Amino acid sequence: MAHGELVFAPLGGIGEIGMNLSIYGFGDARRRQWIIVDCGVSFASEEHLPGVDLILPDIRYLIEERKNIVGLVLTHGHEDHMGALIDLWPRLKVPIYATPFTAALFEARRASEPGAPEIPVQIVPVGGSATLGPFVIDFINVAHSIPESNALAVRTPAGTVLHTGDWKIDPTPVVGAPTDAAKLTALGDEGVLALVGDSTNAIREGRSPSESEVAKTLAELIRTAPRRVAVTTFASHVGRLRAVAQAARGAGREVVVVGRAMDRVVQVARETGYFDGIQDFRSAESYGHLPPEKVVALCTGSQGEPRAALARIAEDEHPDVTLSRGDRVIFSARPIPGNEKAIGRVINGLIELGVEVITDRTHLVHVSGHPRRDELRDMIGWVRPRILIPAHGETLHLAEHAELARRAGVPKVLVCRNGDLVRLAPGEAEIIDELPSGRLYKDGALVIDAEARTIAARRRLSFSGIVSVALAMTDKGALAANPEVELIGLPEVDAGGASMAEIALRAVEDAFEALPKPRRRDPDEVAETLRRAVRGAIAERWNKKPICHVHVLVV
Ligand SMILES: [Zn+2]
Ligand SMILES: [Zn+2]
Repeated sequence: MAHGELVFAPLGGIGEIGMNLSIYGFGDARRRQWIIVDCGVSFASEEHLPGVDLILPDIRYLIEERKNIVGLVLTHGHEDHMGALIDLWPRLKVPIYATPFTAALFEARRASEPGAPEIPVQIVPVGGSATLGPFVIDFINVAHSIPESNALAVRTPAGTVLHTGDWKIDPTPVVGAPTDAAKLTALGDEGVLALVGDSTNAIREGRSPSESEVAKTLAELIRTAPRRVAVTTFASHVGRLRAVAQAARGAGREVVVVGRAMDRVVQVARETGYFDGIQDFRSAESYGHLPPEKVVALCTGSQGEPRAALARIAEDEHPDVTLSRGDRVIFSARPIPGNEKAIGRVINGLIELGVEVITDRTHLVHVSGHPRRDELRDMIGWVRPRILIPAHGETLHLAEHAELARRAGVPKVLVCRNGDLVRLAPGEAEIIDELPSGRLYKDGALVIDAEARTIAARRRLSFSGIVSVALAMTDKGALAANPEVELIGLPEVDAGGASMAEIALRAVEDAFEALPKPRRRDPDEVAETLRRAVRGAIAERWNKKPICHVHVLVV
């Protein structure tokens, strides 16, 4: 048994940023036990996936293997690592392990979701460990943009893997301890078989600046602001929220939290001790009663989310909070790719109100929570893995991380894709199989298969609209009433000013008239003939073909 196989497979998070889910298996091929690391979401962009709120990893394979899964471990509380759990856990019902802040944040998220099931989480102390079947997992503290980010040292009889999770090196983080270099070095001394590591910033040279630098800039910008200040950042960035709170206190200003997601995080941070020493905040309703030079509003909406606080403030539609000429808004965040347009809309709205907008283009008001190239080299130096697998990145980031690792002397570097099953030991590491993998969509209250035609149909509808035709005929094939057409999402008139509805109606009548009586007996054939006629007639004027539904009723 001591010489069973150790395998790794990413089911999300490779070749993309988001939707992280990895599994490790130990044992021989027919009797493997598995752990899952993380279960995150990606955010859908409106144009490609109309109406889809979130993208989740397809866990078909895990459902099949459910009885062999000994646990699911969360590295930290970001949505791209735990955001799919509320929807997917009921299909797995495996024990979840997390450190206290992550567990509390997860529970707060779950409680805010109407109808979400109870989901128990086993709490692992910070710096602690958990034994799950043949896996002994040490949680090693790493700095990141949320408290309690953990690298996982996954020990098995076939060797140890370091799964870095999201990390950076920050000698002076605003919350939590710095990345535990001593523990990582000790692990390297023991011998590390493989490192599965964060590639997000593998194309950026040097080192990422410290959170403390950002805190200084924020303090200065809040101190010198002539009137009201609003700061927006990621709701879960407790270090940044702390920095703003301290800056506000230093400037003699009250803090008002605006936005439910941020309220939730503030509550969790107070419960778990990450807000110790931080003053009480004021409610959003008290904003209007505070003098402009005595307030800092902490707002959700750094990604331009249209329903979040800042977008509503920029539209001058927030019930409690307004901004006007001479006020200052600080974007203490970076756009997640895909959100640039939405953020631009918010910034433009604010500028139209006369508000001064400060972003990381001109001031150090944000730093990434991920390691740049020198930091990646440090990690490799500490851990000295025999194998390195780049993770958490788009294809370019993975390739750059791989190249850096080769140059740093890692003997075996393996770039894989979602679904690849990699044997790490025994023998040379290689991809030995492909597991079912893919995506699911959160569509309103339902989770649907990405392969289903729903979203493709919705995209077609949004491109060319729909024509709906109703026609009633007798069983002898005579019209029983005037046919009706309804157009949704089509131009109302053609270039010559003729009504598109008229054009569709005439096409229906002409096609029906032209159809020989015997062929009118089959309602399906009638429907298909009319459908083609309508699409053809519209396309002649429009150069686009709408979806067309024909209902033939025999009376
Ligand atoms: Zn993260
Ligand atoms: Zn992440």
